[in-house]
Amino acid sequence: RNYPIYIRHPEILRVVKTYSIVLRTMRRILDERGFMELPAPIIGHVSDPGLRGAGKAVVEIYGETYEVQSSVIMYKQLYASLLEKIYYAARNLRIEPPENMYTGRHLVEFTQLDVEASITTASDMMRLAEETLYKTVRYILNHHSELLTYNQVDFLEKTITKPPYPRIDYDSALELLERKGYRLEHGKEISFEAEAALGDIYGTPVWLHGFPTVSRGFYYMPDPEKPGYNIDYNLILPGHAGEVLDGGCREYRYEKLVERIKYHGEPLEKYRWFLELAKAGAIQPSCGWGMGVERLVKYIHGLRHIAYASPHPRIPGIIGP
Ligand code: AMP
Ligand code: MG
Repeated sequence: RNYPIYIRHPEILRVVKTYSIVLRTMRRILDERGFMELPAPIIGHVSDPGLRGAGKAVVEIYGETYEVQSSVIMYKQLYASLLEKIYYAARNLRIEPPENMYTGRHLVEFTQLDVEASITTASDMMRLAEETLYKTVRYILNHHSELLTYNQVDFLEKTITKPPYPRIDYDSALELLERKGYRLEHGKEISFEAEAALGDIYGTPVWLHGFPTVSRGFYYMPDPEKPGYNIDYNLILPGHAGEVLDGGCREYRYEKLVERIKYHGEPLEKYRWFLELAKAGAIQPSCGWGMGVERLVKYIHGLRHIAYASPHPRIPGIIGP
């Protein structure tokens, strides 16, 4: 209703500037490290199947049904295999359930800085992620503190410590959170509330890693040293902000992919283009991550709702202008 006023509000415009600077800074960091940016596709035969309750939008074109990309995971795997170090600044569309409007950290349309590399390890990709996060927030603090309130500068100075950040595995996190009174079920992703609490407990960014295989999409690599768990990791922010990044090493073996797609009850046909690539040996082992840019901006500005972090907010259950 007050859109003409809202959109010209100086605070809103400061956030939009931060968004732009954050994206530019992250691109610069990745470019310097030899990562190549690729344009993200908007539609495809399949998109990310592991969406934590969100739906996918489909469009019909030439009598065929395509999914609007909810993440470019499989394209990332392909191009990391072909070019070694790549990234996308991808717009993702996810039909979040309307009640996710109230989490304050879900949008229907958002940007993921989607990074992937072959010939690497989980640990190296975690290092890259925390360096990227740290340097980006530092850049804002050092060169654009005029965009932030004094309180927010203080808060960031306290919470965005120099990496490496602590790492806690899924089982230990469950134990810790249960001691704090959260009731959690083993084998499920950790609830949004509990995840945010984990960031509060540490007061700095913290890695949550090694999720149970059953709780996650099929494309994560199972840990050969810890059966039943993946080689994967989430970065949780302090200040009750929750998950900002999701990543892992990827399954690339044809037989395993088929097995796990079936286990998830997904039709193989949809994945044929990818499975054929895997069968032909075109998909190499890779690891990577996707960082939610609006989530990061929300943290940088200490915003109450992620909608303020997007120049084009599409709010669950509402969408908007
Ligand atoms: P996922 O693979 O679903 O964990 O998503 C990867 C990253 O994208 C997350 O760590 C978030 O930072 C971000 N993200 C996921 N879903 C949303 C959403 N609905 N709105 C805004 N950011 C999101
Ligand atoms: Mg996630």
